[in-house]
Amino acid sequence: MSTELLRADGIGRRFGGFVALEGISVAFAAGELTSIIGPNGAGKSTFFNILSGTLSPSSGTLRFKGRELNGLPQHRFVHQGISRSYQITNIFPDLSVHENVRVAAQAMRVSYDIWRKRADLVELSERADAALTSVGLIGKRGELAKFLAHGQQRALEIAIALVSEPELLLLDEPTAGMGPEETKEMVALLERLAERRTVLLVEHKMKMVLGLSQRVLVLHHGRLLADGKPEDIRSNPDVRRVYLGQ
Ligand code: ADP
Ligand code: MG
Repeated sequence: MSTELLRADGIGRRFGGFVALEGISVAFAAGELTSIIGPNGAGKSTFFNILSGTLSPSSGTLRFKGRELNGLPQHRFVHQGISRSYQITNIFPDLSVHENVRVAAQAMRVSYDIWRKRADLVELSERADAALTSVGLIGKRGELAKFLAHGQQRALEIAIALVSEPELLLLDEPTAGMGPEETKEMVALLERLAERRTVLLVEHKMKMVLGLSQRVLVLHHGRLLADGKPEDIRSNPDVRRVYLGQ
């Protein structure tokens, strides 16, 4: 029996009169790689933003290791051990790969009060390099971020998310905009990352996640359409209908 890390109960979200999510109840076990899939507009990013503290739910409760998270600012989520990737636009193109991650670590120390301010610059630098090693970018640490290939920039984003040493790592479409070769490399990276932490992926590439995940949730029109092991999802008639009808 695995430990429950994150639990969402009856999560809903409205934008004005539009219901983007409704009645989502799901618990995530420690150590699992879970993917949330669904067609465009299904509510995946909205749910991801709620689970990572970027967006508040209109209804429902979120708990991490039994503690309620509702109403907490994002940096409290990071404190608790939940970290998310940001889009490439958060990378400083004219800083080196290492500097990008170290700046993130410094920002976390100062504004998020992580590591109780005792981490000095050397320690922050070491944390940054450890995160770069985890994503396979340590060999590029001195290069300017703007000279990285697209896939490497996505890996850098993940390194930035890893610097707080999260128990739960949330990634929104890490393979977006990638060709087959880069996608393969990203999948290998995700598999490596999932060996040591709980990972939650949002993806719209169904085929990719079926091979990668221990568990798959399918969102459709803001509701949970299916939840199960990849083999069950693959043969689920509701899921097949949604994907074939796209
Ligand atoms: P997905 O990531 O699955 O493609 P999203 O969660 O981005 O879907 O969006 C779900 C629905 O909510 C869409 O119809 C989208 O237009 C709507 N939506 C998302 N964010 C907002 C917002 N800030 N304001 C209004 N509508 C939004
Ligand atoms: Mg999205």
